[in-house]
Amino acid sequence: MASQDNEKYEKYREAGKVAKNALRYGLSIIKEGKSYREVVEEIERYIRERANLAFPVNISVNSIAAHFTPSINDKNYFKKGDVVKIDVGVHVDGYIGDTARTIEIGSSNYKKLIESAEKALEEAIKIIRDGIKIEEIGKKIEEVIKKYGYKPIKNLQGHSLERYKLHAGISIPNYYTRNPKTLKEGQVIAIEPFSTTGEGIVIDNGLGNIYRIAKASPMIQQIKNKFNYLPFADRWLYRIYGNKTHTKLSLFMKKGLIYPYFKLVEIKKGVVAQAEHTILIKSDGCEVLT
Ligand code: MN
Ligand code: MN
Repeated sequence: MASQDNEKYEKYREAGKVAKNALRYGLSIIKEGKSYREVVEEIERYIRERANLAFPVNISVNSIAAHFTPSINDKNYFKKGDVVKIDVGVHVDGYIGDTARTIEIGSSNYKKLIESAEKALEEAIKIIRDGIKIEEIGKKIEEVIKKYGYKPIKNLQGHSLERYKLHAGISIPNYYTRNPKTLKEGQVIAIEPFSTTGEGIVIDNGLGNIYRIAKASPMIQQIKNKFNYLPFADRWLYRIYGNKTHTKLSLFMKKGLIYPYFKLVEIKKGVVAQAEHTILIKSDGCEVLT
């Protein structure tokens, strides 16, 4: 590998290490009675002190699968029995580590569900190497989750990562669907099985308080300078716009400059578990970066 490649992968490794430790930290501070905002802001502070945020820390509870972060005036707090997905993204010079885990607060009714997502991830990682067909990964994930008696979520997928690109073109489905395309040595991929007690489909359900730039414009130059094209939280815009944040956001959305993410909820209100790692494809296997 060329030396600029080595530098690039060192940055991926550093981002992955901070993401892994931030997630571990997040899992250790989450407690019944704590507010979502408190937890998210503590994890984000942890990341900012060591690297950069690649996207707002996502906190998705019970039948919410993904794409939610508390807004500035969020009043939610964690309750006993909540099944919580924490999903963190860190970047070093644009090279991203993306990782997630699920925790159940104060009970263990969904221990097997959580285990099914973790096991699916683990088994997928075991078979990934240069030349693996994308369909083989989905097949393995589906097989493991179904063996536990749950369903994989079909419309949430793993994805390739590139500099400042969270979803860089390749998708890795969590179920078998014909795709003989292969992964290649040197690619960086996030693998993220989602397992549910429901139907295995998520639908949009209101704003998730996460946004990204849809179209470059001088009007949003400050946002571009700060976050590039990576997702950001309305909470983060308060540092720029203060009390005008929501007025500004509405205006930018109306003009088509900013795209809002929608909270994704399981269609039958099934409980959802997720596990995610970012990996580097190697000739004889893969390196887990997170
Ligand atoms: Mn993620
Ligand atoms: Mn991801």
